[in-house]
Amino acid sequence: MKTKQRLLATLLCLLLAGIVSAQKKRNCHTMNNLDYRQLKNPSIKDKMEEIEKFTQRKIKGINGNSQKIVGDVIQIPVVVHIIYSSDQQNISMEQVQSQIDVLNEDFRRTNSDQTEEWLQAADTEVEFYLAQVDPNGNLTNGVTRKFSTRTSWGTADAMKMSSQGGVDPWNTAEYLNMWVCNIGGGILGYAQFPGGDASTDGVVMGPQYFGSSDKGTGFYLETPFDKGRTTTHEVGHFFNLRHIWGDGGCGVDDFVEDTPESDASNFGCASTHESCGSLDMVQNYMDYSDDACMNLYTLGQKNRMRAVLEEGGIRHELALSDKTTDLTCSASTPTGVSITDVTFEQATISWSEVMNASYEIRYRPTGTTNWLVNTASEIPSIINDLTGTTEYEVQVRSICPSESSEFSASATFTTLETPPMYCESGGTNVSDEYIQTVQLGDINNVSETNTGYSDYTEISTDLATEIEHTITITPEWPGTVFSEGYGVFIDYNQDFDFDDEGETVFTATPSSTTPIVGTFTVPEGALTGPTRMRVVLRFNSTPEACGTFTYGEAEDYTVVIGGGDTEAPTAPTELTASNVKAISLRLNWNASTDNVGVTEYDVYQDSELLTTVTETSVDVSDLSPRTRYSFYVVAKDAAGNESESSNVLNVRTKKLRYCKSKGKNASYEWIDFVKFGGMKNKTKSDAGYGDFTSKVANVERGTTSKIIFSAAFRTLSYLEHWAIWIDFNQDGTFSDEEKVVTGSSSKDKNLKRNVIIPADAKLGRTRMRVSMKSDSPQKACEKFGFGEVEDYTVNISEFSGRGINTTDVSASIDNAETLGYEEGVSVVTYPNPVDNYLGVKMRSIVKGATYRIINTLGTVVLDSNVLNKNIDVSKLNAGIYVLEVNDTQKIFKTKFIKN
Ligand SMILES: [Zn+2]
Repeated sequence: MKTKQRLLATLLCLLLAGIVSAQKKRNCHTMNNLDYRQLKNPSIKDKMEEIEKFTQRKIKGINGNSQKIVGDVIQIPVVVHIIYSSDQQNISMEQVQSQIDVLNEDFRRTNSDQTEEWLQAADTEVEFYLAQVDPNGNLTNGVTRKFSTRTSWGTADAMKMSSQGGVDPWNTAEYLNMWVCNIGGGILGYAQFPGGDASTDGVVMGPQYFGSSDKGTGFYLETPFDKGRTTTHEVGHFFNLRHIWGDGGCGVDDFVEDTPESDASNFGCASTHESCGSLDMVQNYMDYSDDACMNLYTLGQKNRMRAVLEEGGIRHELALSDKTTDLTCSASTPTGVSITDVTFEQATISWSEVMNASYEIRYRPTGTTNWLVNTASEIPSIINDLTGTTEYEVQVRSICPSESSEFSASATFTTLETPPMYCESGGTNVSDEYIQTVQLGDINNVSETNTGYSDYTEISTDLATEIEHTITITPEWPGTVFSEGYGVFIDYNQDFDFDDEGETVFTATPSSTTPIVGTFTVPEGALTGPTRMRVVLRFNSTPEACGTFTYGEAEDYTVVIGGGDTEAPTAPTELTASNVKAISLRLNWNASTDNVGVTEYDVYQDSELLTTVTETSVDVSDLSPRTRYSFYVVAKDAAGNESESSNVLNVRTKKLRYCKSKGKNASYEWIDFVKFGGMKNKTKSDAGYGDFTSKVANVERGTTSKIIFSAAFRTLSYLEHWAIWIDFNQDGTFSDEEKVVTGSSSKDKNLKRNVIIPADAKLGRTRMRVSMKSDSPQKACEKFGFGEVEDYTVNISEFSGRGINTTDVSASIDNAETLGYEEGVSVVTYPNPVDNYLGVKMRSIVKGATYRIINTLGTVVLDSNVLNKNIDVSKLNAGIYVLEVNDTQKIFKTKFIKN
């Protein structure tokens, strides 16, 4: 687990710093850089295998002839690129030279600290010198200098690229490039093995590990790595040497025969340490011992190094390179220093040329003490990383390999005002995870290089306001998958920070999910125009917009708020209707697509805008039955771009079909009169149902109209329940809200009720149902026993203002009585329980009525043709009985108990 390892590493560092800070440990990142480079370019692995085969063959040939590698002393031209953020890091020419001297002593085995302990110790016959000619043919002292505000450079080669603020190498086939800059993370240095990319070839050392305190005073060096052995070690890697323990345990080889096997790196000076059955060679330059402990390369290491330098070797061109010169160079003081093209952060410096010389430009804010120094091989030269609104003084001197001139007189210039800057963000270590891809609108950026922070503000996308945008972040783990947190920030109000409300547009807590997909909506109030978007990935933590951290990466982009989206969505397709009814239907269509996003659909009915929806379907109501309609749909995006129309859909609504309702027996009672809205209908029995829809009652919205109706009975009257419905919304059903009359009456005279026509009733013709049912309340769609149903048409019109029918003049003529709620009485016995005589009560007991009494077994125990007095039940056994009375038209039943 990485978390554990990192915790452990942190603990170790704390221990080292807190308890044994003097015993700082060597830390070389060459193998890490190799992993990183091989990940970037897998072909490096094949190339290195090829080099290894060649090297082994070459060494075998040497051993077979039992002679040293043939040849003279090889001299390597060196260029040292000093990149510094402080005066201290801008190490002196003397300190640089002390390092070159150490290299020569160590590689030629003239070092004064050599011992006789290891007989295989060897003179490698390789020497180093500072280049005297630069790639332009100008004379140089072999050192370049550049000031940078960057304080640590990591191990992902940023210092080797001017595009990332570093210094591009001089031709790596002709110069051994050494970058001297603060790497950070306690790393002393790292090298690139033979076979890597030419553009990053060379070695990197921290300034405090470059040079030897034995060879001068006032050097910026840090014990116990102050004797220049870090560079000796890294150059060993550069010439194909592995760590002496082979970066593994016992049995893992460093590909050198005469170095003893070792199980791991040694620190300090563990000179008696044995491993893998032998004494470790802690004095070897390729171990991790302190500088003062190291003192040899072996013959085997020499042969391995010279294999890449000699004929056929991959660094043979470097071995042949001659950067010495016999050109004459007279270091005279430059004149005519002038400044042009001043910005807030840089200025262009020109001066008179000095033949064959290179130059040093030094500059500082006027009135300050410390000079910043850049080297230049060409005129003019740009100095950068300046502070805004500051007066600088600048001087130039010429450099010849053996001497330098005095500095020129000062020229001054003042930088422009610094525009507001965004805060820094980013990781310092991308070896385990980084942002591989960011997708948002037009942004689809796959990172070419991953350095902890990348400025991709030249890449932009438009972001419309008030719609949802989706950002997709794809992390990359070169090895183990770790848990990463994410943050996306947009400076909506363009004030150069991400602190304002809503500017953290998306965060994701740590997970190993990939890719990470987030959505956000640009608020309406966001300022239009280009602004900054920052995407941050951070190991095991939800990142903030500002600040640097160890593991992870930040990338900046440009987003154009409200940006001119002129691309219309695609037309909706396959518009169809479903659930087609008499007055409603559902429209469905296929979604449109858009470069930014479809926001809504306009639905048109008969070319008029009907409604606007966000879904891809809509329920259309308020249609008329048996009517043809045409529909189409148009898609819109947030910028208001409209698509072409969908297909035009023609659809015909169905006929309205009301449910059936009737009385099965209308021979004893029926509806004989209905009067409503100027319509009246007098009928005899209609056999249970009368379709009078040809008769039309006219009413107005928002008025009260009187309805008059009456029951007719053949002979006897019964209790009749009344219900009247008007289908106000014309949907083909009679809902409870549409029931305008309920009540019950046994009268055969005219009954009346007021009917309120709702103000929102649908205009036009609709159905009214009048239902009369004996004995119990009815439903609108019921077939029942005794009674009758009649259907009518009601035509509803707009309120005219006159309020028709509010006082029905014919009401008095009809002499109607308001329909009430009469209690139903069919047949009742008393007393109950009964001893001897059973009294019988009905609404009316007519002549000719008969009765029967039936026991629980269904046996008739008493019957009579006459029912005109109390029934003698004294002879009956005790128990429950049913009394059936036939009133000559209908039979009524009730239960009673005999004591
Ligand atoms: Zn190393």
